[in-house]
Parts: sequence; structure tokens; C-alpha cells
Amino acid sequence: MKEKFKKISMNLYQMKNEETNIDIHVYLSDKLFNEFLEDESLRQLYNASMLKGVISPVVGMPDIHTGFGLPIGGGMATDWQEGVVSAGAVGMDINCGVRLITTRIPAEELTKERLRKILEIISEYVPSGVGKSSAVKAFRKIDLEAIASIGVSYFIDAGYGRKEDVLRIEDEGRIPFADAGCVPKSAKERADQLCTIGGGNHFIEIGRIGSVFDENIAEFFGLQKGFVYILIHTGSRGFGHQICTEFSKKMWDNQDKNKTFAPVKGLACAPIHSKDGIEYLGAMGTAANYAFCNRQLITYFVREAFLKVFKKDEKELGLDVLYDVAHNIAKKEMHGGKWLLVHRKGATRALPAGHPDNPQIYKKTGHPAVIPGSMGTASYVVIGLENNRATFNSVNHGAGRVMSRKRAKEEFTEKELLKQVENVFIASKDLKSLLDEAPLAYKDIDEVVNTLVDAKLTMPVAKLKPLAVLKG
Ligand code: 5GP
Ligand code: MN
Ligand code: MN
Repeated sequence: MKEKFKKISMNLYQMKNEETNIDIHVYLSDKLFNEFLEDESLRQLYNASMLKGVISPVVGMPDIHTGFGLPIGGGMATDWQEGVVSAGAVGMDINCGVRLITTRIPAEELTKERLRKILEIISEYVPSGVGKSSAVKAFRKIDLEAIASIGVSYFIDAGYGRKEDVLRIEDEGRIPFADAGCVPKSAKERADQLCTIGGGNHFIEIGRIGSVFDENIAEFFGLQKGFVYILIHTGSRGFGHQICTEFSKKMWDNQDKNKTFAPVKGLACAPIHSKDGIEYLGAMGTAANYAFCNRQLITYFVREAFLKVFKKDEKELGLDVLYDVAHNIAKKEMHGGKWLLVHRKGATRALPAGHPDNPQIYKKTGHPAVIPGSMGTASYVVIGLENNRATFNSVNHGAGRVMSRKRAKEEFTEKELLKQVENVFIASKDLKSLLDEAPLAYKDIDEVVNTLVDAKLTMPVAKLKPLAVLKG
């Protein structure tokens, strides 16, 4: 596959699917193209270019790696009238995403002792690890109808957050087509995991703001060098997973009935306006709201922990939500004067300044897009530039893996892991289960971020350095 791709401009490689006349664009530096690109992820983009109603181009981000159906770091837009929706092209962890919280706490004030205490309090209320259900009993039996119709505000109104939080969440934490009536029974049974982190790749990170690239925007965002931040990465847990599994199967089994075609099960799809399509989007929207609520409830306990340990009031500490953005989702958006369904899988929306879909407060700058790196390296806050209309306003969602979990577990020892994370405090009893999360299992975040910066799709605002991480 790789040899079919030609470099057409700075950090952009292209091939055309001659049969469907759809281009495939992959944004990679020469180094990323030559050293870290798997053929299979290109094959997966090519497969996506065969689906009905796909709009050119199908896009790959610099953090691309092989996934289920569409690669992680992949974007696929389909025509809202004629096109299909694919559950696998959204991903298993519906609305996996990140939320960044800023503080007015200088990093020096966060002593090791305080840091440990904070993480201890957080982990009491926010369990981590695969399969864990809520520590707070009330979150195990929840009103899915309310979550679907009200979204995050349902929990904020119940006291879990500040009124203004909702203004700094993508779509104000409420996806318009969410419909709890579309959620399969098997998924409802797994909706007992609110306020939990989940497995290995998910985390709560506490760190300090490092370099600032754009003083004005960073100041406007409240990103001040040397101050403490908190980064939360989790999604819809088993609930979203079950929805993806059920609908992928249904879409695959109903191909003849729906008159759709998918070259592989992971891209099984249904026409957007068919019964299966409508029901999937209703269920997906519910899971997306569930994930926003998950990050909101975690935020509540993170704030509580900081308040308890610092014994100051919230105003003094800040603890403001900067932004909460999804990186596994499908959304109805207007591009080039047409309504499309944009599937982003391991890709982050980054609307440029002036774009009407920005939250009101970020209209002038473009909203922050948050890009985690790894537990031992850095993460970034960037904003999207006008040019990223070429990717349907999508950018990368992380550094992306360079090796499979299996290989990482074989390759690294616990001692090497500790060396790779240097001074970052890992709040996890079991280092062995984190070997596949070693920083060297991921690409170089600087290389990945700079790929889109150099292609003028994004602009970096600030770089974040971890101090401690609570891993799944
Ligand atoms: P994913 O959603 O694909 O599981 O992960 C998104 C990205 O998060 C990965 O590509 C990786 O770059 C980044 N990441 C994984 N673990 C950590 C971590 O512990 N801390 C930070 N800051 N980033 C991480
Ligand atoms: Mn994720
Ligand atoms: Mn996830």
C-alpha cells in the first residue's frame, strides 16, 4: 500500500481510489512515513474510501495506527443525505476524549506530599482499571433518559460542577441526536461505570505548564507557565463498548436489507436515515453524553481533592475547565456548504477562529484542542487553523502507538518503564500492567504535533509536562 502514496505537499501523502474517485490523504512527516507507518492502517483508509456516500478525502492523522475498521487517527466524512454511518468508524469507546482543567496553583506549591494526598483522595472516589464500576453507589443506577436529553447539565444541576462548566464542553455536553430509547438492553446493563477511568490508556494526569508558544492565546486560555493543570482522559466505558459491538454486528448482518456494502466487519455501516442508522446515532449520542458526564463527575472529585488538601476556596485555586473535547465520535457538520456526517476516530475536532460552531467564549481564538502524549513525555494544547478544512477540521488526538500492546509488554521491564517516565509519579500499584503504556510504546509527540504545525493545519499554544499520573 505504502508505495502507492505520493507526497503532494509539506507532510501530506496522497493516493486515489480510482474506482470511487475518492482521495486518501495522510499527514506524516518524512520520518513518520518512513519509519512508523503500518501498511495495514493505509489499507484501512483505503477500505473506508469504498463506503457509500464517502466525501473525498478520507484522512489519516500523524498519530495513525491500525484499529478496528477505520484506523485510529482516521477521519471519514459521509454525505448526510446519501451516505452511511459506521459504528466501527466511530470506535469502541464512544466519545473517548480529554478534558483539561487549569489552576492558579504554582507548581512549587504542589509538594510531593500534597500530590500523593490528592491522588489518594481522587482514587477513593474514582476507581481505575478495566471493568471497574462506580465507587459512588448512586452512579451505578442512573437515569439514562435524563443523560440523553439533558446531557452534562443533568449532573451539574444536581450539584456536580459549576454552571459555567457546560460552556467549555464540546456541544455543551449534549449531543443533539441522543436518544436513550435506541440503547440496546445489553448496553443499559453496563451503564454502571460513571465516574471511573477505565483501562491502561486512560488516565488522570497532574502536571505543570511548560513552554508557552503564543503568549496572548495562552493567557486568554489561562495557561500560565509553571502552573498546575489536570488532564482527564476517559470515555463511555463498557456502555459505549457494548453499543459499538451490538451495532457493528447489526450493520454487518443487515447489509443486504440495508443495501450497503463494507469490505470488512469493522466498517459495517447503514444508511444514515435507515432504522439501523437512526438507532445507532441515538445510542451513540447517549453514550457520548454519558462520557461527558463521566468526565464531569471526575472533575467534581478532582476539585474536592484539591480543596481538601490546599484548604483554600475554589476561586483562589482556579480549577476551571478549559475544554472538554471528544476524539471518537460522529457529528453532523456543514463543510463546503453541504451537511456531512464526520466520523472522527482517534481524531480531535479543532475549529479555527471565527468558525460558528465554536463555543461562544472561543469564537475569536478557536477552541483549544488537547493532545496527550504519554505518561512520561509532554502533551500539547493547540488550536486549529483555517487550512484544516482540508481534514474536515480534524487534527491528531495523541502521539499514537508505535508498537502493539503485546510487543510492548515483551519489550519493556518495570525498571525500564520507570527510567522512561523519569520523575513522573505513577499512582498505580501494579507497574507490570502498565508496560504497554511505556512512553516508548508511543510515537514522539513533538514529531507528531509538528507534522500538522508545519503543514499549517494547527498552531501550538502550550506544552504540558506531567508530574503525576493515575493510570487505569
Ligand atoms: P487513545 O485514546 O488512542 O487510547 O489515546 C490517546 C493518546 O493519549 C495516545 O495516542 C497517547 O499519545 C496518549 N497517552 C496515552 N497514555 C497517556 C498518559 O498516561 N499521559 C498522557 N499525557 N498521554 C497519554
Ligand atoms: Mn482516547
Ligand atoms: Mn478510550
